[in-house]
Parts: sequence; structure tokens; C-alpha cells
Amino acid sequence: MTDSPNPLLSPPALPYDLPPYGSIAVEHYLPAFHAAFAAQRAEVDAITAQTDEPTFENTLIALERSGELLGRVSRTFYTITGADGTAEIQAVEEELAPLMSAHRDAIQLDATLFARIAAVHEQLDDLDLDAESRYLVQRHHREMALAGAGLDDAQKQHLTDLNQSLSVLTTTFEKNLLADTNDLAVVFDDASELDGLGDGELSATAQAATTRGLDGRYVVTLTLYTGHPYLASLTNRESRRRLLEASRARASRDNANDNRPVLREIVRLRAERAALLGYPSHAAAVLADQTAGSPDAVAELLRRLAAPAAANARAEQTALQDIADADGIRIEAHDWAFYTEKVRAEKYDLDRAALRPWFEAERVLRDGVFFAAEQLYGIRVTERHDLQGYHPEVRVFEVHNADGSELGLFLLDLYTRDTKRGGAWMNSIVTQSALRGTAPVVVNNLNVSKPAPGTPTLLSLDEVTTLFHEFGHALHGLFATVTYPHFAGTAVYRDFVEFPSQVNEMWILWPEILANYARHIDTDEPLPADVVERLHASEAFNQGFATSEYLAASWIDQAWHGLSVEEASAEIDVAAFQAAALSDIGLDNPAAPTRYASTYFAHVFSGGYSAGYYSYIWSEVLDADTVEWFRENGGLTRENGDRFRQRLLGVGGSGDPLAAYRDFRGRDAEIQPLLERRGLAG
Ligand SMILES: [Zn+2]
Repeated sequence: MTDSPNPLLSPPALPYDLPPYGSIAVEHYLPAFHAAFAAQRAEVDAITAQTDEPTFENTLIALERSGELLGRVSRTFYTITGADGTAEIQAVEEELAPLMSAHRDAIQLDATLFARIAAVHEQLDDLDLDAESRYLVQRHHREMALAGAGLDDAQKQHLTDLNQSLSVLTTTFEKNLLADTNDLAVVFDDASELDGLGDGELSATAQAATTRGLDGRYVVTLTLYTGHPYLASLTNRESRRRLLEASRARASRDNANDNRPVLREIVRLRAERAALLGYPSHAAAVLADQTAGSPDAVAELLRRLAAPAAANARAEQTALQDIADADGIRIEAHDWAFYTEKVRAEKYDLDRAALRPWFEAERVLRDGVFFAAEQLYGIRVTERHDLQGYHPEVRVFEVHNADGSELGLFLLDLYTRDTKRGGAWMNSIVTQSALRGTAPVVVNNLNVSKPAPGTPTLLSLDEVTTLFHEFGHALHGLFATVTYPHFAGTAVYRDFVEFPSQVNEMWILWPEILANYARHIDTDEPLPADVVERLHASEAFNQGFATSEYLAASWIDQAWHGLSVEEASAEIDVAAFQAAALSDIGLDNPAAPTRYASTYFAHVFSGGYSAGYYSYIWSEVLDADTVEWFRENGGLTRENGDRFRQRLLGVGGSGDPLAAYRDFRGRDAEIQPLLERRGLAG
């Protein structure tokens, strides 16, 4: 290490406080974190050392101002761990995990700080606070109580130990999964084994082989899901079987990457932590502070949806079997997507793989995703070639409001890499806050296969959907107009956060939008009207399967995290436990497996979704109800966009989300639109 100053510790100098990634080296992170921990510790000590009576200003505002450096360093770092987690970065992450949780605990469990906040909380009705400030007091008070600030010293020590162990275990889970996912990438010797893939897909597999030093062969890398997009088009049944088998084996084999003991220990420690806080299970502790409120409320929704979804999946399977009979095949899980495409082709005359030439990535992005947001919200998105992201493949865009004022930056990281975790996500590098005078910088990550040099990126319809979805999260972050950093953008309840992103998917097939972006790569012809019609007609198609695989994963999550300490301490066979849970809710059809099995269920064992995977369908109730509102009110208009932006997106976490929803919608959400959309209305 040189003695040049650590760029992470210098005041932000780039537009929108974009981190100077080009000059940050791996060895800068740990020292920066240590400095940032110390800085926030000193800021919090200054709050608790005061002899003045606790006030909103000297306690809450001071707390909101604290941790500025830590927030900056953390967001800079954790953007990279997911998107470009090299071995060096992973090593830092592992070393950091226990330090981070110890630091967080020290503040969350600070008895003096909690007493000061409790004192302000007690006089809340006598204070002349605006709604957001009032809510800030309530949230800090509640969050600290839930974190264990009210416990005695011995209990707090126990809690801190648990958090430290958990942070190490969850990091291990993610590392094992990434390693095993790479190890299990399926190698094919001959292109004929991959018959059915498009030219772009085939060249991507050849490229992946070359990257791994396997010139002349073909490597299919695994995705996060149990299923794989290629399963829909591979004509060779043995290839399909190999691909699905590899996918389902991830981190469940007797080797160094086995996540079974890791997840059992995570579950046990989470149950122990919940018990310490006075809850019967981790799920009960988590759900107490979500819009759902309790495990019972979640179970009620999941059970209500499971039976019709499973029945629909069985009906779909019968239709698949009818076609598979001609091939002498009894439908198994690895056949489902392939025969689904055949049924789709027969029933709707739709070949989804053949749609790719209409979905060239750049057009989808500019003339679809950005265009829709421009129509709705009047924003303008322009690329800033002069600004640099954390990786050469990252692109930086500046976003302006209709009146020309600056809104924030949007970074796009489209392509898959071995150093990137699976799936797609949005995160913030800078969050908006009036108190700090910051504007948002947000990132979207996808895992699109990179085509061979010189060939265009042609997206699948699913990838188009993902792009719209993640940009919905990005807008949520960009449109934040909150005062306090605590509430910025997507800092809302987890079972609410997917709602705005899901709503943004409604524009994919919206006539003016689709006509603008879905143009054939060679001919510039729009997607033919009859194809569009058939896409609409087939929207509920295969929803029995899609809903079942999702509900199955949600139920597995609830089952693990619904265990008491005693139950979680038993010697549990992971596969058997999972099978029993799925049988309990009637989602045990072997041909329609869970979207994630326990050993690779990163959302709940290493991501932030423990006891929360139900959130997607929970927030889809709001989504479907909102889509109906847009349709009833004339669809794609500035007026509609502005109402949604002001009353809902901009609010961020600064108030009760269901109250914001009522304010936007004029009433509470109704479930009927969701049931109809998924063909579950009966
Ligand atoms: Zn999302």
C-alpha cells in the first residue's frame, strides 16, 4: 500500500457524489471501514454524553446526521460485493462481516441512546413535529426495541454473539453458493447437445467455455433459479436433465461448498435470537414489523393461493403430457419448460425464443424502459460517458426532471460475470436526503449472457421484464423526496418494496411503449399485431406452474423460519424437512419443483429476505390493484404518473406505506385483480 490518501476517506468530488471507483483499490476498504466505524461511534457518543434533556434535535436529528461516512463507504463497497465479488473483495467482505454487525449492534443496543429516544417518544404528542419527523421518532424507537435495546447486559451480549455468528454464516452461505454454481456449470462437448439454442445463446456458451480455458467446448452457466432459461429450448432431453440436475445440486453435496450444515445453523441461531427478543420464532419476530403483521397472516394468503395454483399446474401438466405422449415421454421437471413452449406454440402460436430479434437490449432500454418513464413522469435520461462505474461494463446515465432540474444518476450493469451473484437487483450507491443534501445514485444489475464481440444483445421476454422491473426499483430510489436518510427511496417495508417495481412491468406490452421499442433488429419492423394479441391472450398461460414454484419457495422460507429454538436444535435432514413442508401445503408435485431449494435459497439465507420471500406476492396484491387503477384512469399519462410518483414513490419509507397507498388509490387494496391475473379466481 502506498501512502497516497485513501480515496474513500476524501470528501466526495465527483458529480452526485459518485464514488471514485477508478482510484479505489481493494486494500482501501478495510481502513476506510475502520475510520468510518470510529467516526460514527464518536458521533453517537457525543449524543449520549450530552447532559441536556433529550430533544428531537439533539437526539434524533443528531442520530440521522451520524454515520455519513459509514453509509458512503458501505454502499460503495456492497455495490461491488454483489456485482464484482472477486476473491480479494470476498476476503474483505468476510473479514468485515463480524465487524459490521458488532458496530451496528453497539449502536442499536446502546442503552443510553435508547433511553434518550424513548424519552422523546414519550413526549411525542406534546412535540410540534411534522409528520415525517414524528414517524422518525416512532421508527427509531421501534427498531431499537426490536433489535434488543431493552434487554439486560447479559442478554445483549448473547444477542451480539448471535448476530456476529450469523453474519459469518450468511457470508459463508453466499460464498459456497457462488463457488458451487461455478463448479457445476455444465460442460458440453458438442454443439449438437445444445440443439435448440439461438446463435447468440450458442456463441455465449462457446464464449463461456473459452473464458474457462475450454476452447472448442460449450459451457452453460447456471442461473439462480431451479429452472434455467435454456430448458425451454434444448431439444436434447439428456442435456435438459443434466442442466436441471446440476442446478438442483447446488451447495447440497458432500464437499467444501455444502450449505446444509450452514443453513441449519443459520435457522437455529435466528430462532435463538427471536426467543431472546420474546418471539416464538424468527418469522414471528420479522413479521411483527412488516405490513403483514404475523406468520398467520402470511400463511393465510399462501394457503389461499396454493390450492388453486397447484390445481392449475396439474391441469397444465395434463396438457403437456398430451404432447409429450407422442415422444413417448413421461413429463418430468426438466421437460416442463420445453413442452410448455410446445403447448404455447400450439395453443397461442407463439414461439417465445423467436421473439428475441425484436428485443435488442439497447432499444429495449432507451425506447422502452426509459421511454415509458419519460412519458409517465416527464424525466429525461442521458448517458454520461465521462463518468465511470465500478466495472468497465457499467454504464452511467444522468436523470433530469421535466423542468430540467437534476434528479440523480442511474447505473446499469447488464451482463453476467463469474464474480457477479445470480439474479437481478437494484441498490443505491447514494441515497436521497434533504437533511444531507444528497441526490440518489442507483444501480440495476442483471445477468444477461454477453454475446460474442460484434454481435448485438438480444433479450428474452423474461429479460425484458426484468429490465422494466428493476428500473421500477430504480425509479423508487430516484424519486425519493424525504428529509431523513433513514427513509430514503426503497427503505420501505420488505413486503412493500416489490410493489413499485412490479407495477413498472405493466408498460412492457402497453401499446405505445411496445410499438416504440420492439423493433426487429434487421428489418426495424414492429412486433406484428397478431403476435402482440397472442402475447396478451397467453398472459395467464403457465401461471399454475409459475405461482406454484413461487409459493413453494415462500412456504419453505416460512417453514424454516417458523421453527422454535427446540425444533431448530433437532438434527434436521434438509431434504426431508423441505419435502414435508411442501407436502403440507400441497405443493409437492415433483414435475413442478420449488423455484429455490433450501441450499441455494440465497434470498432467505444470505440476502435480506428471511421469512420474507412471501413479500413478492403480498406486494403483488397492491401491484395488480394499481395496474387496474392505471387502466381505469387512462393509462400512460403524465397526470397518472405524477400522482403515483408524488403520493407513493416519493414518500419512500417516511410514513405508513398502507396509508400512502390509500392516499394514492382512494381506498385499501383489493385481492381480486391478483386472483384474476393469475387465473386463481375460480
Ligand atoms: Zn424486485
